[in-house]
Amino acid sequence: MRFNVAQLLKEPVGSTRKYHLAEDIQDLDGEVKLTHLIEGAIRLIHTTEGVLVSGQFYTEVELTCSRCLESFSTAVDFTLEEEFRPTIAISTGAKLPPVDGEDEATLIDSQHIINLLEVIRQDIILALPPRPLCKPDCAGLCSQCGQNLNEGPCTCEQPLGDPRWEALRTLR
Ligand SMILES: [Zn+2]
Ligand SMILES: [Zn+2]
Repeated sequence: MRFNVAQLLKEPVGSTRKYHLAEDIQDLDGEVKLTHLIEGAIRLIHTTEGVLVSGQFYTEVELTCSRCLESFSTAVDFTLEEEFRPTIAISTGAKLPPVDGEDEATLIDSQHIINLLEVIRQDIILALPPRPLCKPDCAGLCSQCGQNLNEGPCTCEQPLGDPRWEALRTLR
């Protein structure tokens, strides 16, 4: 997740580096649990402003189903495109003035290191579904006894049916 771009910044604008990424990061800040490597191809381009990082990644994330509350693993594909700005001038070593409103996650540090962890964390969170489901037709939990209805019906008395639902029920 960390790339030293000192050499790239000394080369002409337009110079490019390509890497294959396969990182085992299980815990992204405790919020998101990854169950697979973060894998992908990444490209770093020296721009007039700094370094443009772009890439396409795949990983798998453990989520909790919003209906049955079981955890499950789901595939996450995401793209990354961020321009990183230097904080130190590569030619002189002088400190560069900060820019208003810039995101600290996209700064190249004083050792000329780009750290992708924070932008990747943000991209993964954005790629997650707002209401995760373990499967599209998850049956959820019984509202009376809490049984996971994916594992079979419970013994609760069904509430006396609205006749319009009876037809549907016999279809099961
Ligand atoms: Zn579920
Ligand atoms: Zn029940």
